[in-house]
Amino acid sequence: MDLLTAKGNLVREIEQAGYQITYVKTLRGRVSHGTKICILPQSVTRKSVYYTAHELYHALEPRKSRHANVCEMKAEKFAQKKLREMGVPVPRSSVVRGKRYVAMKVRRAIKRRIKHIDKEVLNYISDYYVVDRLDGQYHIVKVG
Ligand SMILES: [Zn+2]
Repeated sequence: MDLLTAKGNLVREIEQAGYQITYVKTLRGRVSHGTKICILPQSVTRKSVYYTAHELYHALEPRKSRHANVCEMKAEKFAQKKLREMGVPVPRSSVVRGKRYVAMKVRRAIKRRIKHIDKEVLNYISDYYVVDRLDGQYHIVKVG
């Protein structure tokens, strides 16, 4: 499937979930559940399609988990699966960036003294980050 068709299909799904699309020139995305607005990059590239698929997850699954790190990992995995299904090669840089993003959410959760970090999240970021528990406190260390 070509990129324009792939992106068009994802955008249609976001709209069907009840969201209005606002396009931006930069490479970013965001779903606001309150205002029902979805911000998407205007460009039509593999990265842009990846962002669009990521935001589709948020549109379809509002607040599935109360932990942002879990939601973001699921959105990342969903985006990768969607692109593969559409025959769009998953940009490796987007995957790496996504893992850093999930790790940032984990770091924030640790700062708020989270009691438990999801095993799937730890596994997902494990190429780049290791989370240790010392004296009952989590610590995150960059390894890659
Ligand atoms: Zn997200």
